[in-house]
Amino acid sequence: MALIVQKFGGTSVANLERINNVARRVAATFDQGNDVVVVVSAMAGVTDSLIQLACQAAQEPDKREMDVLLATGEQTTASLLAMVLRAKGYAAVSMLGHQAEVLTDTDFGNARIIEIRAERVKAHLAKRHIVVVAGFQGADPAGDITTLGRGGSDTSAVAIAAALKADVCEIYTDVDGIYTADPNICARARKLKAVSYDEMLNMASLGAKVLQIRSVGFAKKYGIPVHVRSSFSEEEGTMVVSEDSGMEQLVVSAVTHHKDEARITLRGVPDQPGVAAKIFSPVADAGIVVDMIIQNTRASGKTDLTFTVPKADFKKAMAIQKKVAAKIGAKEVLGDTDIAKVSVVGVGMKNHSGVASVMFNALARENINIMLISTSEIRISCIIEEKYTELAVRVLHTAFGLDDE
Ligand code: ASP
Ligand code: MG
Repeated sequence: MALIVQKFGGTSVANLERINNVARRVAATFDQGNDVVVVVSAMAGVTDSLIQLACQAAQEPDKREMDVLLATGEQTTASLLAMVLRAKGYAAVSMLGHQAEVLTDTDFGNARIIEIRAERVKAHLAKRHIVVVAGFQGADPAGDITTLGRGGSDTSAVAIAAALKADVCEIYTDVDGIYTADPNICARARKLKAVSYDEMLNMASLGAKVLQIRSVGFAKKYGIPVHVRSSFSEEEGTMVVSEDSGMEQLVVSAVTHHKDEARITLRGVPDQPGVAAKIFSPVADAGIVVDMIIQNTRASGKTDLTFTVPKADFKKAMAIQKKVAAKIGAKEVLGDTDIAKVSVVGVGMKNHSGVASVMFNALARENINIMLISTSEIRISCIIEEKYTELAVRVLHTAFGLDDE
């Protein structure tokens, strides 16, 4: 007998028929003798509709009131699922975030969990009740309702699993696991049996579609195994676990891509102490996150400096750099948005040499030019021309032996 947290996303609870399907799964797990805590999202589309409604009510809806409103989406699902379970004869009880004692900070709309006491949840479990918790929400120290950011019920589920020291946190969603690449562009992508927390954290573009990345940080910190699986099939999904859990260690586990970055180059920058600070401080002050940075010194005492920012912040960052360039006496500022980042990720890289050269050779064979490179212990990323993204993903997938036979 185990303590299992099962989280169901919006598509899994999109209507009453699906909520009934969820109830069947929950009941089956309970009937096997397990203690079950269920965490639910709002029904698909509900959070978006509520946001739209709020924007009709006020141009800039008050943030505290917004969270009171958004929390109703999950409240609806939690109560409906508990009703269906009770109608089937199970002692189910719904709980809102604050009733489950999910304590957060006061950052409305993007609150962070400080602590989960879950005493009431534990008391119900001790009586063999099924507890259905509304995900995505908590309350701050003043007792005001907060929400955890889009996709936040994943984090609710993992955090509740951690608080209860659950054996596993199952995330039921509309995909059947984590893939070695995006199956939409790489037909030979295959489902991974397991990935490590760190790989998942480095696979943001593949992983973030499936899990709120913040939840993976939680799972890692508390060592909670997370099982990502489909609510529409019985098949096993992908386990997100610690590295030393005996999982098969591939050199490269996945090839990821994303097209959300833009590149900015300052040419003819004086090569002096303090220049980088002058370039990046105003970018940081504007709240823009810089991803890659590359700098080269030339014999002339001038240097070129290139960095990437989210595409959404490109215009703002360009305007800032034009001012900076004038101030520090740089020659010109160039920018382009037709770039993409392709990355290979794998914990096995730690113990293998030559991974970068396999990657560079594979891209070279297709005549794909590499504009920027960055590496970490378990990831190598290259910026390339956007139009080569799909090709790059496919050739890297093959080069690292990931192709499904
Ligand atoms: N309902 C919220 C959202 O749509 C939270 C979640 O589904 O995880 O973002
Ligand atoms: Mg989600």
